[in-house]
Amino acid sequence: MKAVVYNGPRDVSVEEVPDPKIEKQADVIVKITSTNICGSDLHMYEGRTDFETGRVFGHENLGEVVEVGSAVDKVKVGDMVAIPFNVACGYCKNCERGFTNYCLTMQPKKEWAGAAYGFADMGPYQGGQAEFLRVPYGDFNCLRLGEDARDSKRQNDYVMLADIFPTGYHATEMAGVKPGDQTVIFGAGPVGLMAALSASIRGASRIWVVDRRPDRLGLAESIGAIPVDGSKVDPVEFIKDQTMGLGADNGCECVGYQAHEPDGTEDMNLTLNQLVQAVRFTGKIGVVGVFVPQDPGGKDEFAKNGKAVFDYGWFWFKGQTMGTGQCPVKKYNRLLRDLIVSGKATPSFIVSHELPLEQAPEAYQHFDARDEGWTKVVLKPGMK
Ligand SMILES: [Zn+2]
Ligand SMILES: [Zn+2]
Repeated sequence: MKAVVYNGPRDVSVEEVPDPKIEKQADVIVKITSTNICGSDLHMYEGRTDFETGRVFGHENLGEVVEVGSAVDKVKVGDMVAIPFNVACGYCKNCERGFTNYCLTMQPKKEWAGAAYGFADMGPYQGGQAEFLRVPYGDFNCLRLGEDARDSKRQNDYVMLADIFPTGYHATEMAGVKPGDQTVIFGAGPVGLMAALSASIRGASRIWVVDRRPDRLGLAESIGAIPVDGSKVDPVEFIKDQTMGLGADNGCECVGYQAHEPDGTEDMNLTLNQLVQAVRFTGKIGVVGVFVPQDPGGKDEFAKNGKAVFDYGWFWFKGQTMGTGQCPVKKYNRLLRDLIVSGKATPSFIVSHELPLEQAPEAYQHFDARDEGWTKVVLKPGMK
């Protein structure tokens, strides 16, 4: 089959690789029909992780089941499924409590937790930017979709269930967003936009989205959020001005360790410290932007070792709380699917490009360069 293979920093190509096979009888093989490029793919693409050369990217996957092992009961050949990026067993101590983001069984390193498709340090699982994908524990890890999911355009909504829609929702869950709240979201990339959509679903009265990219801020505005251009105003002062100096009720971090100052310098502390200042006393902060324990490309010794120069004094003084980490997709994907089915959520508004798998290398280049208008790419392996 064809797949997007990582050759080294800023170098991917579409290559012929072996087809996945049923390795255990609980496996399912999915023919991929929609698979996204994600911002977290870029950390690996840029060579900022120890992602192995020759491996296949892709953790935001949707497709049709074409083969099931003999131990698979629920999922049938022909089903359309959205596949959570988390690879989880369903029976370990963490999965049992709903933390499929920290599965102990599927992560090969004994002292670590969590696994994902095509992801650095998250186990050996191949990615789905390919014609086919092997899904371990298929009954647990596939979310079945309706017949409308056979439509390629409709898939642009459902494929967001694999990662970014639940991840954005998770940010608002950790931030405790409830009806009437005033919420600030740092980052208007795909995850930030999904957090804004989620805050709106949860009934927030005002949602600010902070970014510097006009195209992305425009998308935030299109769903009713207030765009805040961080290159033109100080976002902390802006939010305080609009809240009688008190700050937002809660906030979401959707940027991660590659946050940049307006002048282009990378500063992993930037958004965390802005959130501490922009959120009121006792407010909650949900951090879903990616931070890592080791970053060889970091600008100093702190950044290289994942250590933030964090404004803990203010954070403590304000009695704030913070939730962190990857999203347990299964906690939310069913309810978010049903919001899509009923027309109450249309996450595909962020999709800027639908491209055949063969065009993945160009898509990575444009997305990595943050070229204007390249918000979210959906690769379509069947498309010619
Ligand atoms: Zn992703
Ligand atoms: Zn588990």
